[in-house]
Amino acid sequence: MCSFAVDAMLGKLALWLRLTGHDTFYGVDTDDDELLRVANSENRILLTSDADLHGRAVKSNIRGMLVRGSVDEAVVNVFIEFGIAPTVDSTKSRCSKCNGELIQLVGTEKERIRDLVHRRTYDYYEKFWLCKDCQSVFFQGGYWRNILEYMEKIEVLMRERRDV
Ligand SMILES: [Zn+2]
Repeated sequence: MCSFAVDAMLGKLALWLRLTGHDTFYGVDTDDDELLRVANSENRILLTSDADLHGRAVKSNIRGMLVRGSVDEAVVNVFIEFGIAPTVDSTKSRCSKCNGELIQLVGTEKERIRDLVHRRTYDYYEKFWLCKDCQSVFFQGGYWRNILEYMEKIEVLMRERRDV
């Protein structure tokens, strides 16, 4: 599976890469030099909307892709280019906040996050995911439907693209 280094302008794209299970370096404060350094040293594909930065990556023999257009177009183009399926499997997703690995907690294991979420949330949901790095807790709340709907939308756009 590909890993990525994503420039600060492409936060939504970074989010979708993490949700689809890809190890994605991203920070709002990351400058070009650091992004190039990380892509190079960690063998990550550099995704940027900046032609100059893309040019620097190419010169340094770093695999990169110039990403243009709306968020939808960026997601579609990157998913097609790197063969990424538009599906979010929560057992493989990375932490949307920090890219850390998630631990799935089922049944009595959810005890571990009892103090980290609201009581009602704790009682209502059976499955939780805990980030190993930043200790954020995730569950399939209201936003989960939005995630699935967006991936369906991307799937349709990808199919249209292939049919052209
Ligand atoms: Zn995290």
